[in-house]
Amino acid sequence: MKTSGAPPDGKSVEQLDRAVIFLGPPGAGKGTQAKELARSYRVPHLSTGDMLRENIAKGTPLGVQAQPIMARGELVPDSLVLKMVADRIERPDCSHGFVFDGFPRTVAQAQYLGQLLKAHGFRRPAVIHFVIDTSLVLRRITGRWMCKVGGEIYNIYERQPKVPGRCDNDGGELEQRPDDREEIVAPRLAAYEKMTAPLAAYYRRLGLLHTVDAAKSVDTVTQQVLAIVRGAH
Ligand SMILES: [Zn+2]
Repeated sequence: MKTSGAPPDGKSVEQLDRAVIFLGPPGAGKGTQAKELARSYRVPHLSTGDMLRENIAKGTPLGVQAQPIMARGELVPDSLVLKMVADRIERPDCSHGFVFDGFPRTVAQAQYLGQLLKAHGFRRPAVIHFVIDTSLVLRRITGRWMCKVGGEIYNIYERQPKVPGRCDNDGGELEQRPDDREEIVAPRLAAYEKMTAPLAAYYRRLGLLHTVDAAKSVDTVTQQVLAIVRGAH
């Protein structure tokens, strides 16, 4: 195994100096990879969900606006999300770049983000698209069962408990989260595909889109991501 793909660490940290954008369906592992990349380069991992929660917790004007909308279970409007992102990337911890997870979601957001990055003098972003077969994602998500006692995660397709329906550690009953059921997940994946296709096409036209094979192991995908980020210009 070569070690040259190891994450940059120690004193001579490579600078990211750009935004890295992760696109991919739920269950493709992009959240894990986005966090890992951010950790390697010591830059913030930005998710709009976290940003919203932070604004609400701090009671900022944006948070005050967003709170009732989220409480009703509605989608926070673009204008609010974009303002929040604009505020966030002006903070000093973003000066050497940052990793976006789950943003942008639309071409309009992507265009706005492009202007924002340019205005702040960042290089062109690297966009990493997690490509994975829908049936595989379905297995990953719908196969996930969790121990009611200790929270251990199993996968009935990939990591089975020794006794069906029971936790190996404590014999606890395994249950599926309601959101992980196929009738919930399948439409979400379809909606995601529909929403992401134009976004991926947009970034492809700009020459910014890179794809990774998200069916591969976590380590392999990590190496693919690092290679893309280092090779992007
Ligand atoms: Zn357990």
